[in-house]
Amino acid sequence: MTDPASHLQPDGAEGRERLFPRLTEPQLTRLRQQGEVRATAAGEILLDQGQLTDRFFAVLSGEVEIVRPRGGGEELIVVHGPGEFVGDVHLLSGRRSVVRARVRTAGEVIELPRDHLLALIQTDADLSGILMRAFILRRVELMASGSGDVVIVGSNHSSGTLRLKEFLARNGYPYSYLDLEQDPAAQDVIDRFAVSLDQVPIVLCPGQRVLRNPSNGELADCLGFNELIDADRVRDVIIVGAGPAGLAAAVYAASEGLSTLVLESVAPGGQAGSSSKIENYLGSSRRIRARPCRPRLHPGGQVRRRGADRAQRGTPALRAPALRGHR
Ligand SMILES: Cc1cc2nc3c(=O)[nH]c(=O)nc-3n(C[C@H](O)[C@H](O)[C@H](O)COP(=O)(O)OP(=O)(O)OC[C@H]3O[C@@H](n4cnc5c(N)ncnc54)[C@H](O)[C@@H]3O)c2cc1C
Repeated sequence: MTDPASHLQPDGAEGRERLFPRLTEPQLTRLRQQGEVRATAAGEILLDQGQLTDRFFAVLSGEVEIVRPRGGGEELIVVHGPGEFVGDVHLLSGRRSVVRARVRTAGEVIELPRDHLLALIQTDADLSGILMRAFILRRVELMASGSGDVVIVGSNHSSGTLRLKEFLARNGYPYSYLDLEQDPAAQDVIDRFAVSLDQVPIVLCPGQRVLRNPSNGELADCLGFNELIDADRVRDVIIVGAGPAGLAAAVYAASEGLSTLVLESVAPGGQAGSSSKIENYLGSSRRIRARPCRPRLHPGGQVRRRGADRAQRGTPALRAPALRGHR
């Protein structure tokens, strides 16, 4: 297989295997039973940047390259070969893709609609563990590399900038940051486009949109965080707040078969997700550092696997009076 000049180049073969594990034949057989095997053509785009991530692909033969369109060009992230699969946590939440998946060498893939994949990982503990781990590690690496399709232009002395950086970081959304005090060119842009002080930070969303000091809800809408949430669907249980209490309630409600929606104004994890270290936690005798703790509190994990949905404030579903006024 082509060795990728990868942006997400993990250390050595072991690191690559962690991020891009190869599924075994029995695992591929179980995927085949839930999806369809189809031929691919060189150059075919399986998933494009900005498109809702509603399908899962496992490569049977040929190669699929993952690239990130940037500044008129493309940055290669990885090339998937037989046994490897395309996707990250956005597939679980059905958010828009930040990358493009394109067939490099013609072959065959197993294609599963997102719903089929979600159903499979609820019943197949083996596949669930492998996919969940790879999806989260890929996202963590992408975050660490600072590459994303969102750009924040602001100042570390501005509360709005800190709020939006925290919002994206805690939601596991990669972004780039330009600091007005460090980068005179960024200041020029602000001056020339008559951006007033109260409109800073500005956020460049995927596509053509430029937001001026948006609320968390406006940014969530722009990034399509809640596009798959059906605002008109009547639920058995709605939980406000995705802190430890809300997430635990959602897991148990969903595992009892109740249709469950969690509303959160900032990010999953609540206070526990913003702490650098949890000294003690029910059921754990060890200290938990923030980095491994956050994915555990992420609804891409148990909450989503149990079938509960989570919505970020700002969708029509969340415009309840009680929620107004929150940034
Ligand atoms: C720095 C720090 C260190 C800590 N260390 C420990 C420790 O070592 N051990 C320990 O046991 N505990 C620790 N705690 C406490 C622990 O984090 C909290 O007890 C726990 O997070 C409480 O969980 P919760 O779900 O009840 O509420 P929270 O964690 O407060 O979660 C509430 C959630 O609801 C959301 N929300 C609020 N209002 C709305 C609204 N109107 N609409 C939508 N969403 C809303 C919030 O954004 C938040 O995400 C620590 C807390 C902090 C801040």
